[in-house]
Amino acid sequence: MALNFYNTLTRTKEEFIPIEQGKVKMYCCGPTVYNYQHIGNLKTFLFEDILKRVLIYNDYEVTHIMNITDVGHLVSDEDEGEDKMELGASREGKTVWQIAEYYTDVFKEDLKRLNILYPDVFCKATDFIKEQIEMIECLEKKGFTYRTSDGIYYDTSKFPDYGKLAKLDIEGLRAGERVEFSEEKRNPTDFSVWKFSPKDKQRQMEWDSPWGKGFPGWHLECSAMSIKFLGNHFDIHCGGIDHIPVHHTNEIAQAEACTGEKFVNYWLHGEFLNMGDVKMSKSSGDFLTLQRLIDMKYDPMHYKYFLLSAHYRTKLKFSFEALDAAKSGYDRLLTNILKIKNSVSKTSQSEQTNSEQNKFKSYINDDLNIPRGLAQLQQIVSSELSNEEKLFLIYEFDKIFGFGFKDAKDKPKDDIDIPSEILTLAEARIEAKKNKDFKRADEIRNEIKVKGFEVIDKKEGFEIKKI
Ligand code: AMP
Ligand code: ZN
Repeated sequence: MALNFYNTLTRTKEEFIPIEQGKVKMYCCGPTVYNYQHIGNLKTFLFEDILKRVLIYNDYEVTHIMNITDVGHLVSDEDEGEDKMELGASREGKTVWQIAEYYTDVFKEDLKRLNILYPDVFCKATDFIKEQIEMIECLEKKGFTYRTSDGIYYDTSKFPDYGKLAKLDIEGLRAGERVEFSEEKRNPTDFSVWKFSPKDKQRQMEWDSPWGKGFPGWHLECSAMSIKFLGNHFDIHCGGIDHIPVHHTNEIAQAEACTGEKFVNYWLHGEFLNMGDVKMSKSSGDFLTLQRLIDMKYDPMHYKYFLLSAHYRTKLKFSFEALDAAKSGYDRLLTNILKIKNSVSKTSQSEQTNSEQNKFKSYINDDLNIPRGLAQLQQIVSSELSNEEKLFLIYEFDKIFGFGFKDAKDKPKDDIDIPSEILTLAEARIEAKKNKDFKRADEIRNEIKVKGFEVIDKKEGFEIKKI
């Protein structure tokens, strides 16, 4: 059965044809580890996990690489401002290396909690400085770079078709009408491949290079490391849609200029999770982590179910009402599945299960139509099929969803649900504390107590217990 993906490069749904038969090489841009990954970031990592599972379901052997950005990502993607890592370290009074390790560990734990399969390799940018320097040397030799007072820059006017991924209006940008850019840059879209360490300040992360002491530009790590692990030309590259106009555009420019070959065949991008009408982002400070949801007594699977109810290319608005609806939906589904599990000791296949399987595959192979697959699962659970057939399909479909139905067990009797009224109060208390209104925070704590619950502060968020 054909497998189709929407390719950002061509803006069309295309049949997936691998470079090497039976194998897929895939690179996904990983987290910048200066802070927690928020639940928006996790939407993108979940989409990538589903993509990988669908490839495996189609019998491909997948090599999956993910980078960990621990240097060089500046506050603005356009080479302005400080390095997010150095900023994060001074915010927390720790070294850059310490915060990188801490946030990488939390990120990996979040992946586990969402049953997201680990990539074959997690590669840290700081472990591959040599490869990045070699790539700059290659670009320099081919005449793509120039020097300014603060670094070595890539001259995007030298790369034909620079804006092909993002469909950028290069001429408009060149006319200088749309964006302001530093006087030393030759073109507004030029970007740094190497930044010099500031003269007046000691950076924690810096390396010697043929051009002077400094650190690599953010986009370089992904071009250099993907080529190192997957070769000059590979199948799939993904990330969130914010990467299209700058990061991925620059990755292509670097890689293709250096190797002279096509870099990637299929570019897949996940849409944003919004908080209200704006993108959830770390820089705004107004973001939620998975741990926070867990503190509020949501199961990571509730959040996963919420995400999977929308297509990966659909913008999704986060709200607690929507999460509550997902929670009820998932709990109901799980209860029914547990009943089925408890009633049979084996699974069985039949003509009907084959036909359901084919239907399911046609959905997921159609640019990962997971919402339809999920609706099909619901129908099957309440269908006329035998419980053994149902269970076969539940386990089969769960190879894609990754809810972990095989290991799911009945909830212990003492695992109580916290009423939403209590959760709302606890949230209001956090808000009061944030605004330094400690009197109000104490009042709310008492109010919660009167209603029979105790709120316990945690390093990140809170826990609620029944008194
Ligand atoms: P970062 O840690 O900022 O480098 O981002 C990690 C991944 O999350 C990247 O693929 C981003 O494109 C993606 N991302 C960032 N913000 C959001 C959001 N609000 N919703 C979905 N994905 C996002
Ligand atoms: Zn990247």
